[in-house]
Amino acid sequence: MISKFQKHFIALCCFIIGFIGLAAGLGFISFEKKIEDTAPRKIASALSTSIKKIEKVLSLKEEFPHVIKRNIPLYTYLTNLGVAPIDVIEMVKSAKKVKDLSRLSPGARFHLVQDEELNLVEAKFRFSPLEKLEMKKVKSVWQARLVEEEVDIKHVSFVGEVDSSLWLSALDADMDPYLIVSMAEIFGWEVDFSREVRLGDKWRITAEEKLVNGEHVGWGSVLAAEYINSGESHKAVLFRDQGKDIGYYTLEGESLRKMFLKSPLRFGRVTSRFNKRRFHPKLKRIRPHNGVDYGAPIGTPVRSVADGKVTFSRYSGGGGKVLKIRHNSKYKTAYKHLSRFAKGVRKGSRVKQGQIVAYVGNTGLSTGPHLHYEFFINGRFVDPLKQKFPSADPVAEEYRLSFKKQAFKMVMTLPKWQPSNFILLAQRSWSDYSMPALYDNYFMKRDSRNAQPDQI
Ligand SMILES: [Zn+2]
Repeated sequence: MISKFQKHFIALCCFIIGFIGLAAGLGFISFEKKIEDTAPRKIASALSTSIKKIEKVLSLKEEFPHVIKRNIPLYTYLTNLGVAPIDVIEMVKSAKKVKDLSRLSPGARFHLVQDEELNLVEAKFRFSPLEKLEMKKVKSVWQARLVEEEVDIKHVSFVGEVDSSLWLSALDADMDPYLIVSMAEIFGWEVDFSREVRLGDKWRITAEEKLVNGEHVGWGSVLAAEYINSGESHKAVLFRDQGKDIGYYTLEGESLRKMFLKSPLRFGRVTSRFNKRRFHPKLKRIRPHNGVDYGAPIGTPVRSVADGKVTFSRYSGGGGKVLKIRHNSKYKTAYKHLSRFAKGVRKGSRVKQGQIVAYVGNTGLSTGPHLHYEFFINGRFVDPLKQKFPSADPVAEEYRLSFKKQAFKMVMTLPKWQPSNFILLAQRSWSDYSMPALYDNYFMKRDSRNAQPDQI
C-alpha cells in the first residue's frame, strides 16, 4: 500500500526527471566548463552532471529577455519600458568609452533592473556569445564593465555512413556540414570527393568545438578522422607542435599532402572522362577528349590543384574563359568554360595549392555548366585521374616520438563504428548552421544531371 506522501514523492520525482530530460533535450543545460573527455557522451552519464548545474542555469531568453531589432534604437526600447529619457542618456554616455550603445546591432540582447519608480539601476547587454557589458548605477554614477567570455574547447566526435550524399549523411549524424568540408580537405589528396564517394562509405571524426557557457560559437581543428572509401581506410591525425598545427599525417607519420589535389572541385561529379578516342555525340566523329569534365553549378569554386604561376587567363574561343597554371617545368594544368576568375587571379599571379582561382561557368562551346580540366606533363595531355603523385615530407625524425604519442591519443578519441551507439546529450539542429547556398543548390540538383558533356 503506497501512502499519499509516497505518491506525491513519486510524482515529484517523475516531474523533476521529466523536466531535466526536456531541458537537456532542448539544450538549455550548459555543458560543464573544460570538458576533458572526448568520447561521445551518453545520456545516462551526462545526466548526473546536469543535475548539479540545474539551479544556476538560465536560458538566454530568461537572462536577456529583450532583443534589439533592425532599425529600432535602444532609446525606443528603454523609454517604452518606462525608463526616464535622462536615465537612458546618462547610461549611454557612461558606456561610451567601452561600447557605443546608441548603435547596437540587431540580435543584441539586454536585461534591465528597475526600482519601484522605474528608475534604471542595473543593465546587462549581450552583443555576442563572446561579449557582454554589465552596467550598474552606484551612488547615481553609472559604471560599465565589458566582460569577455572564456572560450572552452570540447572534443566532440561524430560517426556516420553515406546513404545518399556525403552532405546529407552528415546532417543525419547531427553533424555540422562544415566538418564534412574540413574532412574533404584533409583527405583531398587521398580521396576524390567529387567522384569516389560511394554508398556505404563510412567516416568518423573528432574535432574541437568552441563553447561559451555551453553555447556553440565555432569550430577549432579536426584532431583525427577516418574515412572508409569503397572498403579502403584512410586515417588522418593532426600533428600539433607547441600549440601550432603542423599538418595531417597517417599514423605512420606520412604526410597526407601531395603535390597535386585529386580534383580542382571540392564537390562535383565527373561527367566525361579523359578519352583519346571519344566519339563526339554532336560532331558524330572520333575526337579526343583531352581532359576531365566535372558537372557543377555555375559559380562553384575551382581550386588550383598545386602551387604555381598563372600563364593564361582570358577568353579563348571554344574553351570560353580559360585559366592555365604552370606548376613547374614539368607540370601544367588548364581550367575551361569558367564563368569568372577569382579576385586578383590573372596572368603572372602566383597561386597556392587549394586556392580558389576561378568559378565554374558555361562559356565557350559548352552545352551545360561544367569545368573542363586538363593536365599536362612536359607539354603533353595526360589523364589526371590516373596520375600518382609523390607525398610531401613525413614528420621529421626529431618529432617522431612525440608524434607517435600524440597520434595514438588522437586516434583513441574516434568513436566506435556503430552509429546506433551514438547519442549526443544536447541534440542541436544543424540547420542553424547555414549551408552555403552554392552547395545547397548543388545537392538539390545532384540527380538532375544538369551538366552535359562539353562540346570541344
Ligand atoms: Zn571537356
